[in-house]
Amino acid sequence: MGTRARMSVRGVVQGVGFRPFVYRLAREHKLTGWVRNTSGAVEIEVEGDKNAVTSFLKIFEAKAPPRASIETLDTTFYPTKGYTGFEIRDSLSQESEYQLVSPDIATCEDCRREILSPGDRRYRYPFTNCTNCGPRFTIIQGIPYDRAATTMRAFVMCGECQQEYEDPLDRRFHAQPNACPICGPRLELVDSNGTVIACDDPIAATSELLQQGKVVAVKGLGGFHLVCDATSGPAVMRLRERKGRHAKPFAVMMESLEEIEQHCVVSREERELLLSPECPIVLLRWRHRASRISPAVAPNLCYLGAMLPYTPLHHILLRDSGRPLVMTSGNISGEPLAKDNEEALARLGDIADYFLLHDREIHVRCDDSVCMVVDTPQVLRHARGYAPSPISLHFKSKQILACGAELKNTFCFTKERHAFLSQHIGEMDNEGTIEHFADTIALYQHLFRVTPELVACDMHPDYASTKYAHILAKKQGLTLTAVQHHHAHVVACLTDNGVEGPVIGVAFDGTGYGTDETIWGGEFLIADRYKFERVGHLEQVPLPGGEAAIRRPYRMALSYLYTLLGDDVSLDGLSLSKIDPAERDVIRQQSRQRINAPLTSSAGRLFDAVSALIGVRDKIDYDAQAAIELEMVALGRSGERGIYPILLDRANEMQVVRLGSLFAQIVKEIRDKVPAAIIAARFHTTMAQATARVCTAIAGNRGLKRVALTGGVFQNRLLLRLTTAILREEGFTVLTHNRVPCNDGGISVGQAVIANFKHQ
Ligand code: ZN
Ligand code: ZN
Ligand code: FE
Repeated sequence: MGTRARMSVRGVVQGVGFRPFVYRLAREHKLTGWVRNTSGAVEIEVEGDKNAVTSFLKIFEAKAPPRASIETLDTTFYPTKGYTGFEIRDSLSQESEYQLVSPDIATCEDCRREILSPGDRRYRYPFTNCTNCGPRFTIIQGIPYDRAATTMRAFVMCGECQQEYEDPLDRRFHAQPNACPICGPRLELVDSNGTVIACDDPIAATSELLQQGKVVAVKGLGGFHLVCDATSGPAVMRLRERKGRHAKPFAVMMESLEEIEQHCVVSREERELLLSPECPIVLLRWRHRASRISPAVAPNLCYLGAMLPYTPLHHILLRDSGRPLVMTSGNISGEPLAKDNEEALARLGDIADYFLLHDREIHVRCDDSVCMVVDTPQVLRHARGYAPSPISLHFKSKQILACGAELKNTFCFTKERHAFLSQHIGEMDNEGTIEHFADTIALYQHLFRVTPELVACDMHPDYASTKYAHILAKKQGLTLTAVQHHHAHVVACLTDNGVEGPVIGVAFDGTGYGTDETIWGGEFLIADRYKFERVGHLEQVPLPGGEAAIRRPYRMALSYLYTLLGDDVSLDGLSLSKIDPAERDVIRQQSRQRINAPLTSSAGRLFDAVSALIGVRDKIDYDAQAAIELEMVALGRSGERGIYPILLDRANEMQVVRLGSLFAQIVKEIRDKVPAAIIAARFHTTMAQATARVCTAIAGNRGLKRVALTGGVFQNRLLLRLTTAILREEGFTVLTHNRVPCNDGGISVGQAVIANFKHQ
């Protein structure tokens, strides 16, 4: 008895070797029929013996290729048609249909073996890939995913490549970026004027330059990296000076997991993350004493951002260089990554001595992703390997564009049960990034066939993303929803956990626009996907000089002291006494009279202030530096049990965490010569305890047992660990972030979900 099964498979099923898998499986079962890609799905018809069809269907999902992810599989049965063979049919393009696009995938083991095997026809070929690995999202211009819709269109396959491409039993069957040294993209080494350096092997030549301490801009998958020898202090310092990036940590690429383990402590979860096809930068505990990596790579930090090679070019370069390499974003601080050859030469010409270029065009920029593991992995920068895989929603969403925040911007499109969180776009304070933002929105809209019904943005009127949202909504006559910043943080966390709420949301970050025209950032909300209520916050103090107080944390320290301990507080014995008396007077005036000094309840600023007060960091070179270094100092005494007094003030149903006695005690301990590490550790414990006390007070009234911890301050692992532990002891369920960043890079997800429920 024969039968015919018609299947429609949705999910990440294109660009991952799906059709060859179906072909092989059908042949193994002696079935006839066909498979094809459409814009929305992979469609299959198989017919033959009933038992064979049943067995085919039974093992279908379990045997699917490793990078595929099946979301839905619909099967219907019909009488047989009498197919004589099994074929792969031409793709069908459908106007309104969409399907998921695979992110870029790190080089697979088979390809790695080939490029490192002398004698293989792809030996040392830097653009080797197959259906299990290689570029995807960064080269794709349209769907269905075929070579003609990618930037590989420019290269015509040679006979041998074509044969692999057409052979259903080959690993490169329908591998769209398939290439070899004969027919594929090529490398070229040039100097900073663009003059070609004659050499047989540009990668070998590059590795020699790196060993000499040169800075080389290397074109990668989603943009350029600036590369130098990570074990050479002078090379790293040269890169720092030229990039104008004096302290912000650089990421390091190392040849193997074994090498990373020589320099860093790697847990099982961290190892899995490093070796995953997403291949992110993972923040690891750095074994300073055992490591030859220059301390200048990540000054004053106990963590090192490490990653493994993820393209053949990287594998060969790392092997040739024989040492860890700094691989930092090829941009001028704040601007987007350089992605085109000309652009790189123009923008990075003053930073890099040489450029390793190639002629495969990058269609969309994508930085390296950054993750950390605290119990479970958390994505801190959502980019290569993750975008544009959707986050699953537990409800059917309207089509919405949420424009995100100002710093660490991402945007998010929702459609059906998907939230397409974009890759990290960057700081929206320059033309280049705003353009990149608009271009990438257009790409997502095209790839996923989204037509927004609603637009969402932050409440902050001056964010470039807010302005973009206003213009778009007006132009297309769409309803605009302005979402409160910390509400968006909490709902981003809920969505990441597939939870509806209500929960107690603890949103600790640097800055967010409050509904009362003050600056929020140390917030306790009761929130769900519809609404929120502010039920608590950290004590407010003036932010003297606005932005200036963020760049110079000592201003915050003075603001806390003047506001909480009085204008006439003595600075004797404190490092703050070294600040120019005239500047101190200005800050005192600003704090008292609130001139150019808006009130803030920011947790980020509180950590900054304590950092400056105890002499850890009084001026910063990168975002959150003072708070990060405070955490590092505290880690030196993480067993410390002491705690500072905190008063909870319950005025008008609002829990306010009073900080006066905390500062008084810290000042006293500084004068008593208590080491900074002990004070820093006690401060962290105190903040965790205070957070738990507020949550308990709120829960008592409302019967809520779940707490969501969100906001950029929870990238502080010590704080996150302590707070989670105490809350659990108190009987709370604690929600933390996973795939959606807890920092402003996750805001857009919360905005979209809130807009959806507001307009049900
Ligand atoms: Zn491969
Ligand atoms: Zn070829
Ligand atoms: Fe924020």
